[in-house]
Amino acid sequence: MDTYDLIILGGGPTGAAAGLYGTRARMNTLLIERGLVGGQLAVTEDVENYPGFEHILGPELGQKLMDHAEKFGLHVEYAEVEDVELEGDYKIVKTDDGEVRAKTLIIATGSMHNKLEVPGEDEFSGRGVSYCAVCDGAFFRDKELVVVGGGDAAIEEGAYLTRFASKVTIIHRRDELRAQKILQERAFANEKMDFLWSTTVQEIKGNGLVDTLVLKDVKQDSMYERAIDGVFIYVGLTPNTQFLKGKLPADEQGHLHVNLKMETQFPGVFAAGDVRQQSARQVASAVGDGATAAIFAEKYIAENS
Ligand code: NAP
Repeated sequence: MDTYDLIILGGGPTGAAAGLYGTRARMNTLLIERGLVGGQLAVTEDVENYPGFEHILGPELGQKLMDHAEKFGLHVEYAEVEDVELEGDYKIVKTDDGEVRAKTLIIATGSMHNKLEVPGEDEFSGRGVSYCAVCDGAFFRDKELVVVGGGDAAIEEGAYLTRFASKVTIIHRRDELRAQKILQERAFANEKMDFLWSTTVQEIKGNGLVDTLVLKDVKQDSMYERAIDGVFIYVGLTPNTQFLKGKLPADEQGHLHVNLKMETQFPGVFAAGDVRQQSARQVASAVGDGATAAIFAEKYIAENS
């Protein structure tokens, strides 16, 4: 079995930053990613709040972060993690490609988009229902779109969709957005964006492709239908911790408990980024978490060898 000083699970900003700090500390470091590097950055168009970069495209920043770590010797493997053994001097990671082990482990598996969980959502996924404006926006040139949600992702991606769509309606369950104020100001000033407040989507209907939403005005307690060409869903994130099978303490949504060193209750096992409790869920905070975890992983090895 291949043995490392440090194994990092996840190739988003947190994992890449941990990889940079790990390799520069001369730890033999493996990063395991199941899909695209960059995590949520891979499906984000514009990044304007990563310090030092006034503007950069999400996939470009994700790739730069990974290239930087690889330059210092980070090994990257593409595999799906199926199980982990967290006790003992060596932490064992079981993937669909075999088993590897390390003295320390950083869990940086990030999060995935929540579903709305309404009838028609799965049936029309990829046929008018999408969770990725960057991937699917261009298919909706001059069409009318709905974005569900009131957070940063809904408002930012809704604005991005106005590059293609004739109109983007944000449907939010309350009468006040959660998104950052600067994003709200821009959205309110965008002539192609409008807002349906205190409204929930009850059902997505169509005939091969989405054509109608069943909506509920929660204040009036009334239901009605609205014709639409596409629906983009941004109703929050759930951490990717299912593979841990309850081995680490977590909150109801699955965010892992850590201390200020990103340590979990298992010595040598760290969790960082979106996957941990009370993360700010920003690229800037993700890279900070990754650096912190790698620094304390190195200290753990120094103190235990
Ligand atoms: P979020 O901040 O959790 O917002 C989710 C939104 O969806 C909320 O407005 C919520 O309504 C609504 N919602 C949740 N469940 C719903 C349901 N079942 N039906 C209808 N609406 C529902 O999630 P996010 O926007 O995906 O952002 C996730 C994290 O990434 C956040 O920490 C965010 O700051 C960060 N992020 C940052 C940027 C950036 O800095 N530019 C960009 C994207 C994301 P309520 O408001 O009523 O709860």
